[in-house]
Amino acid sequence: MNKKLAEIFYEIADILEIKKVQWKPAAYRKAARSIENLGEDVKEIYETKGEKDLEEIPGVGEAIAKKIVEYIETGRVKHLEELKKTIPKGVVEMMAVPGIGAKRAMKLYNELGISSVKELEEAAKNHKIAGLESFKEKSEENIIEGIEFMKKRGKRILLGMALPIARKIISELKKREGVKEAIAGGSLRRMEETIGDIDILVVASDYGVVNFFTKMPIVKKVLAKGDTKSSVITKDDIQIDLRIVKPEAFGSALQYFTGNKDHNIKLRDIAIKKNMKLSEYGLFKGSRQIAGKTEEEVYNRLGMEYIEPELRTETGEIEAALKKKLPKLIGYEAIKGDLHTHTKLSDGKNSIDEMAAAAEKKGYKYLAITDHGGKTIQHLNERQLEQEIKEIEKISEKQDIEILKGVEVDIGADGSLSIKDSALEKMDVVIASVHSGFKFPETKQTGRLLKALDNKYVNILGHPTARLIQEREPIKLDLEKIYEKAKERGIALEINSSLDRLDLNSSKAREALEIGCKFAIGTDAHTIEQLNHMGLGVGTARRGWLRKEDIINAQSLNKLKKWLGR
Ligand SMILES: [Zn+2]
Ligand SMILES: [Zn+2]
Repeated sequence: MNKKLAEIFYEIADILEIKKVQWKPAAYRKAARSIENLGEDVKEIYETKGEKDLEEIPGVGEAIAKKIVEYIETGRVKHLEELKKTIPKGVVEMMAVPGIGAKRAMKLYNELGISSVKELEEAAKNHKIAGLESFKEKSEENIIEGIEFMKKRGKRILLGMALPIARKIISELKKREGVKEAIAGGSLRRMEETIGDIDILVVASDYGVVNFFTKMPIVKKVLAKGDTKSSVITKDDIQIDLRIVKPEAFGSALQYFTGNKDHNIKLRDIAIKKNMKLSEYGLFKGSRQIAGKTEEEVYNRLGMEYIEPELRTETGEIEAALKKKLPKLIGYEAIKGDLHTHTKLSDGKNSIDEMAAAAEKKGYKYLAITDHGGKTIQHLNERQLEQEIKEIEKISEKQDIEILKGVEVDIGADGSLSIKDSALEKMDVVIASVHSGFKFPETKQTGRLLKALDNKYVNILGHPTARLIQEREPIKLDLEKIYEKAKERGIALEINSSLDRLDLNSSKAREALEIGCKFAIGTDAHTIEQLNHMGLGVGTARRGWLRKEDIINAQSLNKLKKWLGR
């Protein structure tokens, strides 16, 4: 809420400036700045204390307080809408480009007739701007860069891309003297499939850490820098916010900055009902802090079990925590082996040997090699699969890890499989997956999958909805029928851990769990490095409330083999 309101007031200031209004722009900017840096949510101030208290915020007088209330109540500020009508639309649009303020936008409009971001980009590329007063050649580069950034900013980053970046920064921060804690909050900590910004919280005895942070080699641009707060843009155009918090409020700050928003609102309501107040600064009774050092403390003092970050979505986890009925989620270290991997015999990069050695190094007890099976390119036919089996048997003799003979078969348009039963019979693990026919209507799609699941050799339904995050919608399925069939046939649903798949996703996994399905978490690794994506699948499983007992590859080899019926 604060961020949005600050944006609105900055925009009002810009437009007033174009219109050559005196002193008001500065007043709006001042208000915007203090709202932006306010520790408390303005909405909360208004709702708990009233409109008068909004005027306590530095720079906020009666008129601005009224606009804040208007926005909270109606989601809009009429004054801004009226103002926007008085200047050309293209100018407002251009003002959104980083580095183009109101004045410059107006100049571009008046002198070059530019009236959209698209025209602006063209003009910059054709060097039409450098000649203007107060613009240089460098400005053109900056404009192009700013527009690129705007385009990317609209898009969220995949969890699997953001995680390694966050981990690297955190490990660097932790190496610094005086840094006691460093951890990422926000959607990253909740293991959401896509991430907006990366939020990092630090407990440090020395503010020099902000300096260090803004000077890291991956930083492209410093957006803001204060004693306890800083924002930067990395070279991959990811925004990272760093906050230094006090040790006695570390838990409450982490809780606050982990979210999600609805979860936090509910938690604050519970605090209020208990005559307490919860904020990023701690849990308070009157003015006395009664918890805040750790998150556990905060949840416990509110009368509930600790809630794992992945569960904080306000979808029943708080009720369960109050009744002390939260599931014991599968741990990130609980996986005993990977059940979905490819080698260079189909479309992977590494050999069976290399994959097995890498899996063993990860501490796995078993690894299934599941190259694509079928008659098309980069698929192994029955005869080639036979050869692969022999090779696996040979390699198995010299490795401690158990290599399971597997195959990933394509589900045809009619639900038939791309490898004959006589060959499937010889396999330890059979994954059946949809790799084509994504557009079929629901009845045809569902029927096709149900038929495939009737094959008695299938063990796992691979990436069940075939969606690609931000790229391809899930196929249309009557999922309940699929879940029922999988349960009845003893087939595990995959949680595919590829960066852009995470399929089943967490909410669907949770629905399937309700029905009583089992799950297999597989990386679908096509290289040894991709074996490291397992955590993304485990995170997704945790968000879906899955426990160790729900996941077939969190079991011992013996148990797994029994389950596979081999
Ligand atoms: Zn596949
Ligand atoms: Zn695959």
